[in-house]
Amino acid sequence: MLFDNHGRPLEYLRLAVTDRCNLRCHYCMPEHGLEWLSRSELLRYEEMLRLCRLLVELGIRKIRITGGEPFVRKDLMVFLRELSRLDGLQEIALTTNGVATGAFVPELKALGIRSVNLSLDTLDRERFFQITRRDEQPAVLNTLEQLLRSDFSVKINAVVMDGLNTDDLIPLAEMTRDLPVDVRFIEEMPFNGGDHTTTLRWNHRRILDTLQQQWPGLTALPSSPAATASEYLIPGHRGKVGIIAAWSRTFCGTCNRIRVTPQGMLKTCLYDNGVLNLRDLMREGLDDEALRERLLLAFHSRHKDGWAAENARQNDPVHESMATIGG
Ligand code: SAM
Ligand code: SF4
Repeated sequence: MLFDNHGRPLEYLRLAVTDRCNLRCHYCMPEHGLEWLSRSELLRYEEMLRLCRLLVELGIRKIRITGGEPFVRKDLMVFLRELSRLDGLQEIALTTNGVATGAFVPELKALGIRSVNLSLDTLDRERFFQITRRDEQPAVLNTLEQLLRSDFSVKINAVVMDGLNTDDLIPLAEMTRDLPVDVRFIEEMPFNGGDHTTTLRWNHRRILDTLQQQWPGLTALPSSPAATASEYLIPGHRGKVGIIAAWSRTFCGTCNRIRVTPQGMLKTCLYDNGVLNLRDLMREGLDDEALRERLLLAFHSRHKDGWAAENARQNDPVHESMATIGG
């Protein structure tokens, strides 16, 4: 097993395959999008596969493909097919907005992928348009239906935004009554790719209060190791609800994850500024042995928590988009 300098096992890689997206979520990027990376700046699939192989050899067991929107990158399925053949990798999961995902559901299943996180911040079509600046809610709901019909384990991610979708908390949580889904409410973080600052008005406690007022019998479930979500059961419901204190950072003590950004930067904490430029090292010709050493050095110099990682950025405040980080 792979451990960091604080004794935390590292088992989980979140790999962002692109920074591009077919939505423009208010909390993630400005209306005009981001300054997209050029093709040469992006990691190539073969570079990603090499990194995944090295990381799995070191102890990574699960890889989540994210972005940006993974399905806007050309030939994603070709890459996933290769990745699914990697010896020692126990699980591939995906995070997607669901706009273009529906058509790929059967093939994802055939590759052995079982778990998909789907972003959906509201059940109201107009509000979906307001939040994502695109009228794509029907496609997302269609993807959800297909995933459930194919027995995927589905988690719905909803970012809670003051003044935008707090009325949606109860209707979204209501989905768990009849559907076998986990609905997770995420604190809004300042990673919006723009210069607007985020003041957290809806933290995990306020979200929980709102759910408890509606369902006084809400029961906390024992937390699984390294989970970011606190999970709850609403009596009589099939699915679960969860709250992710992404801004309050209550889960750093058991964090088992690392990230690789679309341009190949290693992040050992969501809040750090990138600790190793893997793309440049690979393109300079570093061999596997040397790359492995550099990776281990980074894993053994990990910040204790997200606050320490953010402080170490000094005059470089957190403002990049989740799409360039690998949300
Ligand atoms: N495009 C895919 C999607 O939306 O699911 C994958 C990438 S997206 C960056 C991954 C996750 O990050 C989504 O669930 C999204 O809601 C979340 N996210 C993006 N910006 C965020 C922010 N500022 N605060 C909290 N969560 C955010
Ligand atoms: Fe795109 Fe996902 Fe960011 Fe929304 S959260 S703009 S869907 S990358």
